[in-house]
Amino acid sequence: MKTLKDFEKELQKCSKCGMCESVCPLFKIDPNDCIASKGKFVMLYGVTKGELKLSKNINKYLDKCLKCEKCNKFCPAGIDVCQILSHAKHDYVKNKPFGKLIFLLQSKLIFSNIIKLADIITKPFRPKKNKNGEKTVIYFKGCVNRIIPNTDKYISKLFRKDINIIEPDFDCCGLPFLTEGNMERFIESAKSNLDKFTTDAEYIVTDCASCESTLMSYPKYIDDAAKIKVRTFVNWGDLIAESKLRFKAKKELKITFHKPCHLKSDDFFEKILEKSEGIKYIKMKDYDNCCGFAGSFALKNPKLSRIISKRKAQAINETGADYVITTCPSCILGLRQGLMLTGSKTKVVSLLEFLCEKCNFV
Ligand code: SF4
Ligand code: SF4
Repeated sequence: MKTLKDFEKELQKCSKCGMCESVCPLFKIDPNDCIASKGKFVMLYGVTKGELKLSKNINKYLDKCLKCEKCNKFCPAGIDVCQILSHAKHDYVKNKPFGKLIFLLQSKLIFSNIIKLADIITKPFRPKKNKNGEKTVIYFKGCVNRIIPNTDKYISKLFRKDINIIEPDFDCCGLPFLTEGNMERFIESAKSNLDKFTTDAEYIVTDCASCESTLMSYPKYIDDAAKIKVRTFVNWGDLIAESKLRFKAKKELKITFHKPCHLKSDDFFEKILEKSEGIKYIKMKDYDNCCGFAGSFALKNPKLSRIISKRKAQAINETGADYVITTCPSCILGLRQGLMLTGSKTKVVSLLEFLCEKCNFV
């Protein structure tokens, strides 16, 4: 298991250019030197050199991160902030009583069995899987869709008999474990999932941008994970875009789209719009800015989370859209938070729900 010390050279690559500060959504709200990755790296480099203690105060700044990866995309040194923060968090919490409690709650025995139980309870509400379609895909459903059966219904409605869905008994993608520095549990879930990606299915499909991005990150953490090919990952939006499906809104609607931070590409969205009638798309300002939820970030930093969600909601409200569409269950919560705080009438829906419930399709 790597420790923060293993990233000393990586941390040294930071030139202090400040590019990360110019894009970090948290730095824009609180221009504190320790908020963006530049400041975080200065502190963590000090820790690797033995000049600073990995203290409660530094841990506070480890938790002040949306894991939106905006800084990664702009960092000329290509330093991977999420990986470094997860290992630093692990070093800090592993021997703390609260850390041990979180790790226990995230254990396979507790976390995975609760999700499995929810999956079993909701099974009667899910449609039967097709076995005779032309295309076969592996579906990584993600924990939220194992609890709530609606997405399965929408997929079945849209693709009827066209697609065979293989759904192995996957563990969580591991993102909640990475966020809490539970590296042992993350590696356990990643290895278990990797073992189930062995079939020759054309695609691995997800309905959650965060699951997709975490699955794609496995090769950074596990040496033999290269067998997952990045190009084989798609979401249901990509499959709808390349299908023959055409949509017509049940009544004229104005919509806008929120791009989740972890979504690889949103090219599918405009392609779906081209195949749709009765829908007016108004692009919101900064449509790819974070929704402010970011899993446990919202619980640990409720004030910051609300400020970001409100800003997002203001951008949505300026469009006057009836619906804001997105492709991540966690973003749905962040968007709802912001819209509620601004008293907005705009409703949040997943892409699949919008296409199935608000449109007719052939
Ligand atoms: S963008 Fe990268 S190199 Fe520049 S200050 Fe931030 S972390 Fe350092
Ligand atoms: S991942 Fe996002 S929130 Fe975290 S430091 Fe980078 S830009 Fe800021």
